[in-house]
Amino acid sequence: MTKSENEKKRLRAVVENSFPITQEGDMPRKKFYRSRAHCNPLSHNNTFDYPSHSSEMDWSTHYPNISPAHPSEKIAPTVLDIGCGFGGLTIALTKLLPNETILGLEIRAKVTEYVRLRIMAHRKDNPGEYERASVLRSNTMKFMPNFFQKSSLEKVFFCFPDPHFKKKNHPRRIVSESLLSEYAYFLKPGSGKLYCITDVEDLHNWHVKHCRAHPLFRELTKVEMDEDPCVKAMYNETEEGMKVERAGANKYYAVYERIVNDTERTLKITAENFFEMGQFGVSEGE
Ligand code: SAM
Repeated sequence: MTKSENEKKRLRAVVENSFPITQEGDMPRKKFYRSRAHCNPLSHNNTFDYPSHSSEMDWSTHYPNISPAHPSEKIAPTVLDIGCGFGGLTIALTKLLPNETILGLEIRAKVTEYVRLRIMAHRKDNPGEYERASVLRSNTMKFMPNFFQKSSLEKVFFCFPDPHFKKKNHPRRIVSESLLSEYAYFLKPGSGKLYCITDVEDLHNWHVKHCRAHPLFRELTKVEMDEDPCVKAMYNETEEGMKVERAGANKYYAVYERIVNDTERTLKITAENFFEMGQFGVSEGE
């Protein structure tokens, strides 16, 4: 029997006997978890589970072996790999940032399951490690407020996001004026960072244009970026980045710090006044 016949037989057995393609604790094989490359993040057809309020989210099932620094605190993610794909950066960040709690967010169900199994296999093979990594299936363009609290995040990564080339599809881009205000709301003022990298120069220019125009972000200098090990990780460790490397194409990146706004210093910030028109970068009619 040839290798591909063997593989077909194995898959038939999986379907007929309805046992999982990968046993939990085994390393999943990517080829069984590929799915359509693009989906419409503005579609209303997807069914996602989400709590009605971020305070109701119980992260302990994602990080069962981690206790919060203080008994009065709850464990929650502090670093997000948004659109994590097959999870290379999510895994790498767990090693690089041992004191942070890392969450990959992915819209595609099969790909999310691959990352979950990948993390489980790493945990099994390396007892006590990878406990601060997890993944969640979600559409971040819609549901971030249902999961995350104000000023709770240290870092958010947007690595090789879908470019949505056509002008009519630009509203599907994951970095936009109003979404930047959301990201600013969740990032810690004065230290939180937003990272973006792409191989599409036009999309990079879009990121730079929107982030520079936003009153709550400051662009890091080249020196500052060179000193940040997370920049090297986002350049080298994502699956998409490796593909770009193999193709010999360029990668364009930028990093932005969430700054403190003067109004914010004096005003008690709530979700309501933060997102008021014109207050923190949300302009009418975007
Ligand atoms: N960051 C990964 C990397 O660099 O290898 C994957 C990049 S891939 C081109 C973009 C990923 O973002 C896809 O896996 C896609 O399913 C995911 N994605 C797109 N829109 C999303 C959304 N609104 N919420 C969560 N994930 C999304």
